[in-house]
Amino acid sequence: MGKPTGFMEYARQTQPERTPLERLKDWQDYTLPLSDTEVREQGARCMDCGVPTCHTGMEINRVTTGCPVNHLIPEWNDLVYQGQWKEALKREHEKNNFPEFTGAACPAPCEGACVLGINEPPVAIRTVERAIIEKGFEEGWVIPEPPDKRTGKKVAVIGSGPAGLAAAAQLNKAGHWVTVFERNDRVGGLLTYGIPEMKIPYEMVQRRVNLLEQEGIKFVTNTEVGKDYSVEQLHQDFDATILCGGATVHRDVAVEGRELNGVHYAMDFLHSNTKSYLDSNHQDGQFLSAEGKDVIVIGGGDTGTDCLATAVRHNCRSLTQFDIYDQKGSIRDDVGNPWPQYPVIHRIEYGQKEAASKFGEDPRAYAVQTTRFVGDELGHVKEVHTVNVKLRIDEEGNRIREEIPGTEKIWTADLVLLAIGFSGPEQGLLQQLNIETNSNSTVKAEYGKYVTNVEGVFSAGDMRRGQSLIVWAINEGREVARECDRYLMGATVLP
Ligand SMILES: Cc1cc2nc3c(=O)[nH]c(=O)nc-3n(C[C@H](O)[C@H](O)[C@H](O)COP(=O)(O)OP(=O)(O)OC[C@H]3O[C@@H](n4cnc5c(N)ncnc54)[C@H](O)[C@@H]3O)c2cc1C
Ligand code: SF4
Repeated sequence: MGKPTGFMEYARQTQPERTPLERLKDWQDYTLPLSDTEVREQGARCMDCGVPTCHTGMEINRVTTGCPVNHLIPEWNDLVYQGQWKEALKREHEKNNFPEFTGAACPAPCEGACVLGINEPPVAIRTVERAIIEKGFEEGWVIPEPPDKRTGKKVAVIGSGPAGLAAAAQLNKAGHWVTVFERNDRVGGLLTYGIPEMKIPYEMVQRRVNLLEQEGIKFVTNTEVGKDYSVEQLHQDFDATILCGGATVHRDVAVEGRELNGVHYAMDFLHSNTKSYLDSNHQDGQFLSAEGKDVIVIGGGDTGTDCLATAVRHNCRSLTQFDIYDQKGSIRDDVGNPWPQYPVIHRIEYGQKEAASKFGEDPRAYAVQTTRFVGDELGHVKEVHTVNVKLRIDEEGNRIREEIPGTEKIWTADLVLLAIGFSGPEQGLLQQLNIETNSNSTVKAEYGKYVTNVEGVFSAGDMRRGQSLIVWAINEGREVARECDRYLMGATVLP
């Protein structure tokens, strides 16, 4: 419970950030660590709230509430306050194989559900989480722990994002031989080629993958299952398969001029940027550059924010982000969005802070809908036409966006990035394996069971759930391992 009076003595303090203008000059982590004393004070703010809701992990009104991996938050807060860091680390790893990834990039629904947060700033849970695991690495407490015995069973995991990595880690603990297939040249899924270096540095992914390799997991990169490695081979070589291929089919903006040069999916921009940076520190020029360009990012979510942070580092000429929604309020609506739900409020993320530091104002334009792209004589985009919209809910509860007459606007742009999310997983491999899907194209496999219609084939993460969060991917990866172990052995010891 931390210190009984801690929440009255210490103010909430999250991980400090490097000043925006300074951090724009590089691709390093934009945050800085707190001192041990400061982290202990944050742990001390955890109060004896009786029934903690921070670790519950459920969905209310389709919004995540509490921690999806059910982290033992009050326990590790107390242990950190007592200075028992190693014990706190043990508690973290009991529920989460990779607290460094969530500690760096989780939106922290736990903090939205913190009891202290009802009338005070909540406990800085994510900050404490990250400090514990980083201390663990610094002290050399995080070491490979290969299983004592092998079962002789072989499992293939397709996809090396957080779901695939968590599934592999757990199945390996249970003694199975695990091979992870990844079509990219580097392991990590969106941890590596989606979320930029400033938020999750590749070194952080590599550090964990090295441990997993030392524990006995085999990684096969540059190999797309269904293309470079046949499904017949897969069935022959493995006793079970877990599909963790993510939800990578982009949503598109179906308006006139979409085919123009200079209009790209955000992922093409983010992926090529990270690959070129990691391969050659951008010396190979194999990336989509925003340098000197008027950049418009369509989409107000995490992907859009990552595009801002990347474009501003390329030294773009101007930067605007369209959000289809109205600007949210600064405090949560106690009726429509009450505690302990994740607070749907106006946030200023790292990318917006950086754009504002460079251009003098927040880059966002709200309630904006794109109506067409206009190109120059060479077929390159030069303008984006928009209109403002307002949301109306009709009698059947359908959400309808109505254009507001007189709000039409033309924006100058020579690079447009589409960051409006993903519609679901790619279907090629699923069809080859005869996997049944839901109406939204995700894999049909019940949450908690993860088994598909095909004997011995399971699925987890974004591929099963649809576009989501790292913490849900880890939750599903751990649980699918448990179900796969049960299938292979008839019983399971995995949580
Ligand atoms: C730009 C961006 C920023 C994000 N930021 C955040 C954030 O800040 N915080 C957060 O919690 N979440 C964030 N997310 C969401 C989060 O990254 C995902 O929910 C999570 O990575 C899903 O994990 P996964 O393992 O299911 O799939 P993925 O991470 O998508 O990994 C799937 C992997 O499978 C591989 N693959 C697919 N098919 C095959 C095949 N046939 N053979 C071999 N390999 C294959 C793919 O190459 C990929 O590497 C972000 C997403 C994006 C796109
Ligand atoms: S994983 Fe996310 S929700 Fe869980 S404790 Fe960490 S920050 Fe909170």
